[in-house]
Amino acid sequence: ADIYGSERPNSKGFDLTAPEKVAALTEQMQAALARNWTAGPIVGGVELSGPTQPVTDPANRARTVGTVVLADRQAVERALSLSVAAQKAWDREGADHRAACLDRAADLMEADTPALMALLVREAGKTLPDAIAEVREAVDFCRYYAAQARSGLKPVLLPGPTGERNELHLTGRGTFACISPWNFPLAIFVGQVVAALVTGNAVIAKPAEQTPLIAAEAVRMLHKAGVPGDVLHLLPGDGATVGAALVVDARIAGVCFTGSTETARLINRSLADRDGAIVPLIAETGGQNCMIVDSTALLEQVVDDCVTSAFQSAGQRCSAMRVLFAQEEIADKLADMLAGAMELIRLGDPMDVATDVGPVIDNDARDILIAHAQRMDGEARLIKAVTVPDAVQNGTFFGPRLYEIDGLSRLKREVFGPILHIVRFKAAELDKVAAEIAATGYGLTFGVHSRLEGRAQTLFKTLPVGNTYINRNMVGAVVGVQPFGGQGLSGTGPKAGGPHYLHRFVTEKTLTVNT
Ligand code: NAD
Repeated sequence: ADIYGSERPNSKGFDLTAPEKVAALTEQMQAALARNWTAGPIVGGVELSGPTQPVTDPANRARTVGTVVLADRQAVERALSLSVAAQKAWDREGADHRAACLDRAADLMEADTPALMALLVREAGKTLPDAIAEVREAVDFCRYYAAQARSGLKPVLLPGPTGERNELHLTGRGTFACISPWNFPLAIFVGQVVAALVTGNAVIAKPAEQTPLIAAEAVRMLHKAGVPGDVLHLLPGDGATVGAALVVDARIAGVCFTGSTETARLINRSLADRDGAIVPLIAETGGQNCMIVDSTALLEQVVDDCVTSAFQSAGQRCSAMRVLFAQEEIADKLADMLAGAMELIRLGDPMDVATDVGPVIDNDARDILIAHAQRMDGEARLIKAVTVPDAVQNGTFFGPRLYEIDGLSRLKREVFGPILHIVRFKAAELDKVAAEIAATGYGLTFGVHSRLEGRAQTLFKTLPVGNTYINRNMVGAVVGVQPFGGQGLSGTGPKAGGPHYLHRFVTEKTLTVNT
């Protein structure tokens, strides 16, 4: 494969329109849920016991999916000392050996797709299409980074004067702390961990509080695939205790973080204040993602793409659209059409293939959405609110909402859920709109619907945004196809699933020999 991993096929999809296939899949998923799912600290390849807490289903709070044991101080300390002792030998194993482990892990994940999907549905509230896409993304990350490591981590011979040999070597940095969010509890968790591993680092992974079960299963698979127990550890627990204890420790040689901008700032501060080496922080954070729709756009397609971008995954994607700028000539029509399309959105049990939108992750997440909606009810125009059906009142559901606001400045920060805001603009104000979007400081995703190719291209070139989508929805970046990640308040880069990602995890050494 070249640096773009082009010889590596992405994983296969699944036909959810075939009822008999869906029935067989959900049966396998139900069977997998009957397993006794547990998560706890996995340190040195051993799963530690301790007091357990239930992990509950966001679609039905009365349902327990499994149990979790939280990491204590001793587990953190042991993971740190074991990983530091084991990392150099892992680095010396070479990129081909490590890449083979990733490929085997991808095979194991693919083979157990129904179990991973079952956890995604029941632990994280993912719908069936989202769960399939997420397992595929995790598998693709493994194979993509494996291919990249094979071709891109080899020592390079450099030209030099006669009588001298010059080489550039890439080696692991040490032990990486990988800290991940609940909204892609498999794909982002695995993507971070395998990127750090394949580049010769040891890893201590801290999954999100809400989703430890699937993280533990991914770690078991990576161990089974050949990653030594002393090289990869899992520490479930609170960010403020376990996560914070990791990032202040001078033995951590780098942090790979995905989550909110606020937490990234805290981590950055801890890294700056601690003793020891100055180490890299790879942070992928939030967004204030906008789409601009002008009067040349094809509105039927705009509506479809807006519903996907704003409401799919209950709006709990970092890439999800929060603000829709609509040119005034089409704004009323577009708002009407969107409200009509929202009537058709079906909230329900995510295990049901007919469900479009599942629950939000927990009570705290729902409370934030309720508070935002209450503020909007006072200062914006409510265009449409989807009601939550009685059948799912036991879960943390929030019905998608559409508001019209009078400017982007009404939104102070990212609101992580299915709430879309429309702002209307005049044709002559396009530059002002672009400047307002840039002024948010976020730069994750951006969409344009326009049949004026030049206009869309100019916006792409002007705006400091990581991923721009023209005349389509703005979510669902594919590994190796749409390298993903933002700028400014949205992240440090490099882009996950892109050709430059692995390089941030290595350190470079130059060797000069007088022959
Ligand atoms: P979060 O920041 O609350 O938590 C993320 C992780 O950080 C969790 O594992 C948490 O336990 C840990 N953490 C919290 N405080 C910590 C501390 N002081 N020290 C160390 N670790 C700490 O984010 P979340 O609510 O889990 O995820 C949603 C956020 O993630 C949204 O803002 C979303 O936009 C963002 N996100 C970004 C991307 C991207 O690629 N840019 C992808 C997915 C999610």
